[in-house]
Amino acid sequence: MPDATTADAHTDVLVAGAGPAGLMLACELALAGVSTTVLERNPSPPGFCRGFNLNARSLDLLDLRGLADRFLVEGPTLPATAFVGTAALDLAAMRRTRHPYVLGIAQTRVEELLTERARELGVRMLRGHRLTGFREDDEGITADVRAPDGPLRLRCRWLAGCDGGRSTVRKRAGIAFPGTPARRFTLLGDVVLADPAALPFGPTAGPDGGSVFVIPRPGYVRLVTAEPDPPEDRDAPVTPARFQKVLDRALGRRVEIAGFRWLTRFGDAARLAERLRAGRVLLAGDAAHVHPPAGAVGVNAAIDDAMNLGWKLALVARGRAPERLLESYHTERHAAGARLLRDTRAQALLAAEGERLAPLRDLLGELATAADTAGPLAETVTGVNTRYPAHDPHGHPWEGRMVPAGLPVTARNGGGVLLLDDATAPAAVREAAAPWADRVTVTAVRPGALPDTSAVLVRPDGHVGWVAPPGTAGGAARSALERWFGPPAEPGHHDVAD
Ligand SMILES: Cc1cc2nc3c(=O)[nH]c(=O)nc-3n(C[C@H](O)[C@H](O)[C@H](O)COP(=O)(O)OP(=O)(O)OC[C@H]3O[C@@H](n4cnc5c(N)ncnc54)[C@H](O)[C@@H]3O)c2cc1C
Repeated sequence: MPDATTADAHTDVLVAGAGPAGLMLACELALAGVSTTVLERNPSPPGFCRGFNLNARSLDLLDLRGLADRFLVEGPTLPATAFVGTAALDLAAMRRTRHPYVLGIAQTRVEELLTERARELGVRMLRGHRLTGFREDDEGITADVRAPDGPLRLRCRWLAGCDGGRSTVRKRAGIAFPGTPARRFTLLGDVVLADPAALPFGPTAGPDGGSVFVIPRPGYVRLVTAEPDPPEDRDAPVTPARFQKVLDRALGRRVEIAGFRWLTRFGDAARLAERLRAGRVLLAGDAAHVHPPAGAVGVNAAIDDAMNLGWKLALVARGRAPERLLESYHTERHAAGARLLRDTRAQALLAAEGERLAPLRDLLGELATAADTAGPLAETVTGVNTRYPAHDPHGHPWEGRMVPAGLPVTARNGGGVLLLDDATAPAAVREAAAPWADRVTVTAVRPGALPDTSAVLVRPDGHVGWVAPPGTAGGAARSALERWFGPPAEPGHHDVAD
């Protein structure tokens, strides 16, 4: 559906914010046939770019929908990434991913590609529309929107706050955002140097302990440097004069800047929303967690949240699964958010603490490239080894983890997959899946491909929801299917997405 300038009065899900979280979530919902409207306060995409990468976890998730190739053609893949300030983390050592590298791609391009996909799927995009407030009742939510032509009211059943770190949705829902305030500030400048050779790629140290990190971009460079004395008003715009002054002081010399494209300030605040769901309101991406930019994972965490929430909210919105399925979104992604904060805070601390933590930096730098340790470390900080709570904590080691690469899991339609080893799986398990045929595809695997089991239920986000214990009967399969996909369909039942 094309961009709309006026909205229908009703949509199943209203998504506030067209960043990576909101766009990915909208794609997932629309794929499942849920009517979805995205509100974005900015009339057009930003003229600047924050992030420049997609990591292995994001690429694995996009792969499930057959989308990874659209992104992979856009930039180079690199087998290592910066870690704790200076060391390189060996990504090629990761074993649990199909994509053991980082893709260099501008966040703006990620957003363009997701917008394209959202349009293909029929998402209604309302740019220049700011959500200003909402009221919830038993049946749904009435949202107040400031539109280009004046105020607008939209009715929805669910509201997803994907509206960034200062989320209006989070604040209006009264969801607390505990954590630590920003104590250190950094200036970022996308600039054109008068002499491009004046600063090499990477860190350049000044004589008095200051330093500037330089990232070459096509036609300009990105300069990143600490701001030791931020102004009282941290939201005050960074002026060219201010940036030049901080830069000169860090370097102990003058480096001429011929042009300024984008200047900004960011801090190292780390906060995690107390709840990711309150009634009919859900939070994802920066609205749910803010963290120091160390490790460059914010876009990736936003996509991760959206992939976890999308299929669950779609099943609930379509009346296929009970609302309690949404509680697992909170349980799983709140814990993932806590790990995200721990990992990024650790890296920021190590990068900032000068000589005192140098031995720790050294040690971690060694572990980040050593053959035995680099893989597990990289899988941790990229989220590749994410394990959601298993139904049976003593069960199969796959439970809760991303299904291993190499198994025939294609979830392009956003549904689940029941992998069956036809040689050993009891017929009762295959038969048990029949009433979920609209939500779960049964796929045969070659004999022996599923170690220590004959059947594996893979959720639409690629995580293993159930592994058949030895001697499984149909009853266990039915309760696992119902846990993740809601009750079985009535015979002859069809809904709009069928
Ligand atoms: C300088 C910098 C560099 C970064 N580099 C990287 C990197 O290299 N890699 C990486 O992975 N991450 C990086 N990040 C983090 C990343 O940019 C964010 O984590 C990511 O954008 C979060 O996505 P999101 O969709 O949750 O929120 P956002 O991208 O912030 O999107 C929220 C959207 O909601 C809109 N909005 C807000 N309020 C309303 C409202 N009331 N109504 C309607 N719309 C609204 C906003 O206009 C915005 O478009 C960086 C961040 C910064 C600041």
